[in-house]
Amino acid sequence: MKDIKCTVIQDLLPLYVDEVVSDDTKLLVNEHLLTCENCRDEYEKMKGTLYVPIENKATLFSQLKKQWNRKKWLLIFGSVLTTTLIGFALFSFIFYYAKPIPYTAELFKLEETADGKLVLNYFGESHAGTHSTHPLEVEIDGEVKKISLIYCVKTIAHSPTSNFLREDKRIGPERLELIDSETVDAVYYGDFDLDKVTKEKEQTWEELLQQMTLIWER
Ligand SMILES: [Zn+2]
Repeated sequence: MKDIKCTVIQDLLPLYVDEVVSDDTKLLVNEHLLTCENCRDEYEKMKGTLYVPIENKATLFSQLKKQWNRKKWLLIFGSVLTTTLIGFALFSFIFYYAKPIPYTAELFKLEETADGKLVLNYFGESHAGTHSTHPLEVEIDGEVKKISLIYCVKTIAHSPTSNFLREDKRIGPERLELIDSETVDAVYYGDFDLDKVTKEKEQTWEELLQQMTLIWER
């Protein structure tokens, strides 16, 4: 075994120090180290650099643990935040994303009460809210008229499919009284953005009313 080259032994030394060599290799290196001072020096050096005192090991371990804990908390905090955001978005979407209900003669019937008020009866199931205006003075075909604009909205939460979730056993239509309706000349149903119409003047009244449905006229 004396003919094994020092380079081969020194290649094996890292594994030997880490004690991951087979018994045969271990024996081989042992025998060589007994007879070769050069390799023995290498071995001592290598052993020295890899030697980790127990207290240092403990520090290292607790540091790793600390790092892991911080990472873990970041991970948990991050995922909780994400879940909350997604939940909030979904919640907002279901409860606040309101879509206008298109007008049909079957769904909406405008009625004039005995005391001259206008009430819009809604016969659908998915009403979530009503947008309506105070009477607006508008010039139509050279004539000044007082008109009310109105439309109803629905959300997913108020859709017929979700009604089984609610204990709503309402019978009959939903009654939506128009504001100051005693003085109104005409009522238009349809989607409108009052800010756009009155402030930004992006649309003229004629343009807007063309898109809406005249549902009642005095
Ligand atoms: Zn040697």
